[in-house]
Amino acid sequence: MENGETEEVELTSASVNRDSERVGPDCFELLTVLGKGAYGKVFQVRKVQGSQTGKIFAMKVLKKAKIVCSAKDTAHTRAEREILETVRHPFIVDLWYAFQTGGKLYLILECLSGGELFMQLEKEGIFMEDTACFYLAEITLALGHLHSNGIIYRDLKPENIMLNHEGHIKLTDFGLCKESIHDGSVTHTFCGTIEYMAPEILNRSGHNRAVDWWSLGALMYDMMTGSPPFSAENRKKTIEKILKCKLNLPPYLTPDARELIKKLLKKNPAQRLGSSKADCADIQKQPFFRHINWDDLLNKRVEPPYRPSLHSDEDVSQFDSRFTKQTPVDSPDDTTLSDSANHAFSGFTYVAPSVLESLKEGFSVEPRLRPVRRHNSSPRTPISPLSEPFKISIDGEEEPPAQAPPLPAENGASKPIRTPGRNKKQKGRRGGK
Ligand code: ATP
Ligand code: MG
Repeated sequence: MENGETEEVELTSASVNRDSERVGPDCFELLTVLGKGAYGKVFQVRKVQGSQTGKIFAMKVLKKAKIVCSAKDTAHTRAEREILETVRHPFIVDLWYAFQTGGKLYLILECLSGGELFMQLEKEGIFMEDTACFYLAEITLALGHLHSNGIIYRDLKPENIMLNHEGHIKLTDFGLCKESIHDGSVTHTFCGTIEYMAPEILNRSGHNRAVDWWSLGALMYDMMTGSPPFSAENRKKTIEKILKCKLNLPPYLTPDARELIKKLLKKNPAQRLGSSKADCADIQKQPFFRHINWDDLLNKRVEPPYRPSLHSDEDVSQFDSRFTKQTPVDSPDDTTLSDSANHAFSGFTYVAPSVLESLKEGFSVEPRLRPVRRHNSSPRTPISPLSEPFKISIDGEEEPPAQAPPLPAENGASKPIRTPGRNKKQKGRRGGK
């Protein structure tokens, strides 16, 4: 943290729940597994008691979670509840309830049925600049809001950027410091995806809110080219690249996009755009965002580029089927579950067979390792039919063109051609299980 002095808000039923309703496991039905993070699983649930009965939420299970704010930015007199209130923002997931039982913390969050933004990106191949611009602008407002409350997000990466039912951005968490329910003493500092992490986090040289602007630059690069700016076949080499390698920008990016990426991906945080006091205001002023009306954007008056096609509140079609797949079992055979799995969800009114089935794999959560995507095998072909196949140099070595440029679309559209999707092997950005 910038000034070393911090204030912590632990998430508990007392600090989170908004009214006097007693909220516990028996208020929810477990419907589906939506995803896995480094810290826990996320389930789709339905509230079956009290206020908001029938409403669909997402439930995340952890051991502990807290928000760490810079004390400078938070008045000491502020109650924990108030700090949690200030975190609310149109582009940050809403936290509705929390309860603790059996040493675990359950967070009940707004369900983001649009899925991860990068599921959309995987479908499209790469984003057109105006599409990327919309998403990056909404993310910029969310990060700026957290920073103005003394909170650093630190973990900005594709899996943590979701879409709501209308297609607006929602960041999951909000700079939460989490404890996995299974970790024991293992530290989780670097579990999961590291491709979007700032150099100063990786070499532990101390960091401040500028780390989030680096990650924004890495995301922007990924959205527009089909892969993050620095990646290699293993974590060690990826870290080395982030720390040392020069940035390579493909020639088809517009000058405004190049300029912004370059300014965000400055290895020295003091030179990075957004590191000054002005924070996000400096980023909002960039020519890349000149068509954005920030007031309209914040008030959700700008139509999102894609509206997720959803049939109901429970629709999980935007999530990875590896998580959501219904297992065809009529009555779950609990005898095959381990003792701990058997008790994992005691107290919940209903646990869907698919959720029980997922327990058989072990409720433990492996950190998601990001599959390595090599430039020459990226299914998101970053080539416009109007441009020559380009060469990317990695570590100064020239590599052959990614692949033959795709044929122009039949209607002769002059848009960059988007490849139909990622191949099976690379499906999903998760390694893990
Ligand atoms: P990490 O620290 O690695 O980001 P995590 O343990 O904090 O992971 P999340 O990122 O919050 O976990 O959630 C894991 C996955 O669950 C997400 O990538 C997403 O697919 C899904 N998910 C998380 N929150 C929600 C939500 N509110 N609605 C729907 N799905 C969600
Ligand atoms: Mg996550």
